[in-house]
Amino acid sequence: MPHPRLRFPPSPTGYLHIGGARTALYNWLYVKKTGGTLVLRIEDTDTDRSSEESIAGIIEGLEWLGIDWDEGPYFQTDFSADHRRAADKLLQEGKAYRCFCTREELEKKREAALAAKQNVGYDGTCRHLSEDQVEGKLEAGLDSVLRFKVPERQGKIGYHDEVLGRIESSYAEIDDFVIVRSNGSPLYLLCNVVDDIRDRISHVVRGQDHMTNTIKQLLLYEALGAPVPIFAHMPLTLDTKKAKISKRSHGEIVAVQFYRDNGFLPWAFNNFLVLLGWSPGDDREIFSREELIEAFSLDRINKSASIFNYRKGDPKFFTDPKAIAINEHYLRTIPVEELAPQVREVLIDHGLWHDDYDGARHRWFLDTIELIRSRFHVLTDFATMGRAYFSDEYEIEEKPLNKNVLKHPGLKQWLPELADDYEKLSDFSVEHTEKLARVCAEQAGVKPGVIINGMRTVVTGQLAGPSMFDILVTIGQEKVVSRLKKTPQLYP
Ligand code: GLU
Repeated sequence: MPHPRLRFPPSPTGYLHIGGARTALYNWLYVKKTGGTLVLRIEDTDTDRSSEESIAGIIEGLEWLGIDWDEGPYFQTDFSADHRRAADKLLQEGKAYRCFCTREELEKKREAALAAKQNVGYDGTCRHLSEDQVEGKLEAGLDSVLRFKVPERQGKIGYHDEVLGRIESSYAEIDDFVIVRSNGSPLYLLCNVVDDIRDRISHVVRGQDHMTNTIKQLLLYEALGAPVPIFAHMPLTLDTKKAKISKRSHGEIVAVQFYRDNGFLPWAFNNFLVLLGWSPGDDREIFSREELIEAFSLDRINKSASIFNYRKGDPKFFTDPKAIAINEHYLRTIPVEELAPQVREVLIDHGLWHDDYDGARHRWFLDTIELIRSRFHVLTDFATMGRAYFSDEYEIEEKPLNKNVLKHPGLKQWLPELADDYEKLSDFSVEHTEKLARVCAEQAGVKPGVIINGMRTVVTGQLAGPSMFDILVTIGQEKVVSRLKKTPQLYP
């Protein structure tokens, strides 16, 4: 097989959303698998809707995901001369023609055809104008568009889709379509093909929403004398109500940046994305980068739509539960050294970072991550649920405050007394702290749980967490003592 060349050609009219990111990922995986080349092309010809901000956002999103490209970014607007040249060539070779029909005329014909239940497509009025007629209209200053002259053939035109199999359409169903607007600007449909030919693209992997273009584009490849690439059309991503995922109706929940800002690990997010429309053919769901590259193939892309299954408004599960589950898996199991730089970023963002976590206290930092991550869902949990490990200013959650502290007024006295005992310990170990806590409970005449839960709430602000005595040792004698001594201040 010749060297595969694929492309990711986003239109920069908004942020990188999960659909676009999935397209990029599938292209990237195929390129990595086959040793091919990935071209990044920004399709910015729609200047009214394109923005610098979107371009920056898309590139930032790809970089965060670790989806790298080999060529580009190319900008479609830099190649407008190529697009115009291709259109001129089609006109000169009689493969396209000028059409002077006005919008009003076309609309009238459409309505009449609809009323008569006939084909509403373009009726070919200008297809047979003589050269003189065309000259006359041009001299009269009439506006014209350029239409592609669909060959008059019997039968069907089609292609083999790597995902969907044979796709075809009969020639009779394809109208002469517009390729250049009356203002002289070529349509996206044409630019896209001209660019793919110039960039020597061998595989077009894109969403099924582009399939209406594909048949017409086959005709353009033929007319421009270029080989047709291999096509693979991926299923759309829908929400649980089967509506297409979009920024307008779903907001930031579908933006890649949202996941970055809410503490997802980039690879975990790729792992989630790949499963939105592809499966390995067995029940595996977790893949390392290498495993995924190895397992990926175009023919295992699903034919039917994928569902992005998120529940709105639930703070713990603020997105598709599978996305969270995959993220948790990585967050809780990857080597702690690999996670540490990402936790560092989060702590910096939240003003909780101390330079000695990189120096004298690096071991402590790693051990703390290891200790607390087992209940975390996203990276930002280190700065919220885990805040008490990195700062003395943390909130005590209301539920454990009521349940574990305020309900037991005796703790006002017991915990400061325990703090006095802890202060005297020369070896502040799991064993010794536990022993003293049990003695404290016995003397107070309560179950050890009362002391332990009270202490957990006061020292960490949380209802649940790792083993209490591991927590004490991790947070350290001095801080534990001072926090326990402040217990009375929690009572009204
Ligand atoms: N620019 C198009 C888009 O963002 C992609 C077209 C294609 O893949 O051919 O949807």
